[in-house]
Amino acid sequence: MKILVINAGSSSIKYQLMDLEDAHNYTVLASGLVEKIGESTGRVIHRKNMSAVEEKVVEEAPIPDHRKGMARVVALLTDPVKGVISDAREIEGVGHRVLSCGEVYSDTVRVTPEVKASIRDFFPLGPLHNPPNLVGIEVAEELFPHAPQVAVFDTAFHQTMPRKAYLYAVPYEWYKDYRLRRYGFHGTSHKYIAQETANYLGKPLDQTNLISLHLGNGCSMSAIRNGKCVDTSMGVTPLEGLVMGTRSGDIDPAALQYIMGQTGMDIQQMTDALNKKSGLKGLCGGNDMREVVEAAANGSNRAQTALDIFAYRIQKYIGAYMAVLPRVDALTFTAGIGENSAPAREHICRGLEHLGIRLDLEKNNSPSRQPREIQQDGAPLKLLILPTNEELQIALETKDIILSTPT
Ligand code: ADP
Repeated sequence: MKILVINAGSSSIKYQLMDLEDAHNYTVLASGLVEKIGESTGRVIHRKNMSAVEEKVVEEAPIPDHRKGMARVVALLTDPVKGVISDAREIEGVGHRVLSCGEVYSDTVRVTPEVKASIRDFFPLGPLHNPPNLVGIEVAEELFPHAPQVAVFDTAFHQTMPRKAYLYAVPYEWYKDYRLRRYGFHGTSHKYIAQETANYLGKPLDQTNLISLHLGNGCSMSAIRNGKCVDTSMGVTPLEGLVMGTRSGDIDPAALQYIMGQTGMDIQQMTDALNKKSGLKGLCGGNDMREVVEAAANGSNRAQTALDIFAYRIQKYIGAYMAVLPRVDALTFTAGIGENSAPAREHICRGLEHLGIRLDLEKNNSPSRQPREIQQDGAPLKLLILPTNEELQIALETKDIILSTPT
């Protein structure tokens, strides 16, 4: 089944066209990125992956809006030379990454007018993502009127969290009247990793307990019990929890008032600073883990401190989630840092031997793109590196929904 996966952001659209049977039998036919939508110069990077040698097309021209951007994607996908299909009607379903629908949907759904209304209803809680996600759906409905549209929510996997994990200790009316609670994000990745961990261990998902560490530009962790999320580190927004590339993660809320009083910053500037100028970048100037590790190795105290704080926060969450779970089968690293940064993994695991976390340095340092385990022989806890694949998860769920809920 040919499924187009779309992730529409405020000025960009990421896409991937897959032909898939199941999680282990699929082909990425084409993928790409439309960026700088609405700016004076726009760009489309399109990769045709059908041949053994990947072909890349880069177009530079203004792209006034998402509709024009998606129309370019359709033109490239169906181009006789650069394309991979002869007609847009070959696409049998479109899966959309959508940030949040709060508590309304706890699973993937076919897009209906009610679903779109719910996505709109959550604009105030996902102001940067939900509006462009909805535009992506509306544009795809126009361009692929024959294909079912499916919404895959980044918060859905975390809907199994118990109340004690998702409620903040603030006036209860804030939850009742304004839906303030912890929702969690990166759900598509954590769900995929839960299944992949179970597959790797050869256990049924509903008997698998794990702590998943999604460490990319954004970082989050989940405690997963019997295949279901029981806690996660992000909150009502993706700002809570771990130290990230440019986000602070956990901070005393009273610190905001203090710094705003000292500097004259308003709440918008403060929110911007916590989201875009904090984390690794705020601590040492760089938000890319490769640069931070290199700077620390070259003697930068600030970079070393940033690395220490990044790892220490993760260690504290590991401790918390080991307390939450009755048994841990594996600790699974994924995403850009989790999959690729041996120094970051080493830093995170160092000093946690008393918890059964015993990293094998040689296995940790051997570069590989394959799923693998990196704990010492005989260690009580498995340490896994499993590549995440959010697009595949979205495509799989889209296919399942189309087949299980025919119109
Ligand atoms: P996103 O959250 O945007 O999807 P990724 O999962 O791609 O991001 O992670 C991006 C981050 O991963 C980069 O900022 C970088 O810090 C880190 N990263 C990527 N490749 C490597 C590598 N080879 N070694 C160390 N860190 C890496």
